[in-house]
Amino acid sequence: MEELSFLLQNYSTHDSSAEADSHLQTSWEQHSKSHSGRGSLLSVSSAPSSDASGAEPEEQGTQRRADTPWVSTPSRKMRRTSTLLKMTDIRTLLDQAGTLHFDAIAFAGLPAVRSKPLQVLGQFLLEESGDVLEDLQKHGWVEDGDTFRSRLFQFLETIGSLYSREADHSCAHAVDVTSTMEWFVQMPFVTDRTTPLDHLMCLLAAAIHDVGHPGTNPLFHVTTMSELAIRYNDKSILENYHISLAFETMLKPMNNCNWFELLQKNFRQGASPCVNIQKYMRRGLVAMVLATDMSGHAKHVQKLHEIGGDEEAWLTVAPEGQEEEFVERKLFLLETVLHAADLSSPCRPRSIMLGWTQRVLAEFWSQGDEEIRLGLPVSPLCDRQAGLATVPKGQLGFLQFVVQPFYTQIAELMPEAQEATELMTQNKEFWENMEKDKATYDEIFPE
Ligand SMILES: [Zn+2]
Repeated sequence: MEELSFLLQNYSTHDSSAEADSHLQTSWEQHSKSHSGRGSLLSVSSAPSSDASGAEPEEQGTQRRADTPWVSTPSRKMRRTSTLLKMTDIRTLLDQAGTLHFDAIAFAGLPAVRSKPLQVLGQFLLEESGDVLEDLQKHGWVEDGDTFRSRLFQFLETIGSLYSREADHSCAHAVDVTSTMEWFVQMPFVTDRTTPLDHLMCLLAAAIHDVGHPGTNPLFHVTTMSELAIRYNDKSILENYHISLAFETMLKPMNNCNWFELLQKNFRQGASPCVNIQKYMRRGLVAMVLATDMSGHAKHVQKLHEIGGDEEAWLTVAPEGQEEEFVERKLFLLETVLHAADLSSPCRPRSIMLGWTQRVLAEFWSQGDEEIRLGLPVSPLCDRQAGLATVPKGQLGFLQFVVQPFYTQIAELMPEAQEATELMTQNKEFWENMEKDKATYDEIFPE
């Protein structure tokens, strides 16, 4: 219960610098897979930590940390990345980060960022267009801000290197979902219910959510009784693997990227009970990544429908004695937006949508080829020969039965998400026309 203080914080929008403002303007089931509240930790009636004595008084701790420059001695690696952020071709694409128009495939393919697109995007979102890391430092929620920052970006680089280069579930996909997550996090409905810590948690959950993805779906692992299926007992095999791999990577001393241990375990503000920020971060990351499992999609949409747009169900402040319920609801909101970001490709401008469609088909069909090679039945959607002639039909099915019901509900809750549903409607018309013309793969994706 120590983490419950976080349910009482929120921050409505980022600092409204001109740059940030212009920045803001500007596999389905079978194939599963204010500032007003910004600094205020309000007291809650949850049980205090067993080690409350070590916590610093609020003013002393916060003041001391606020006086420390966030980046006093940037390392050589960080300076190189800063130079990267100034390069024109990178900058042009990054200006769309956090919008539905961000082209992650093009961004991740730029020679200058090829080895670390997640790190470059992370630095842009956390430090350039936003001030998330600075806020964490100001509040005293992390120890040793310089080290935290350096390890965090090292972590993003290392995580990025653990994604496949070519498959649909590549680092470019992680970059895309991270950017789309930023789009969701900037919506007033989300900012009113979250803190800078939640913001960091959201971007990290997106960055790690498919790490190590083997390019095959859970059914393949269950059928072949793969090592991963055995390890995770056929349950959320890939999602369990992603979150586990992310923490294993972070905890390996040789990787020098354990930012997690620098989150405060006994944070205290004023007379409030101690807060274990590490515990909250782990709970949130695990919950969000596990919620990307497509096998839970129908249940998730049903739950969202049941909660609906009832204001009382989505409070911004926890009523006394209902802190745990409040945290549960907040995490459900964050799970919802990560899952939605993961499924956002039909809600994007057509050229971006087509780029992702081509990649996902390549991954599905590659699995089908492997199944044929192994003498196994070909999984749904994985038959290359059948698929080549039925791309529009497959895309319409995904759009109508999976994405549309989900995004329509989200747009009822968050009006800004109507931008996504409008693009989805346009893409639906596109696929309907393609279907009418019986367009083949080669006609849709000319060389
Ligand atoms: Zn994904």
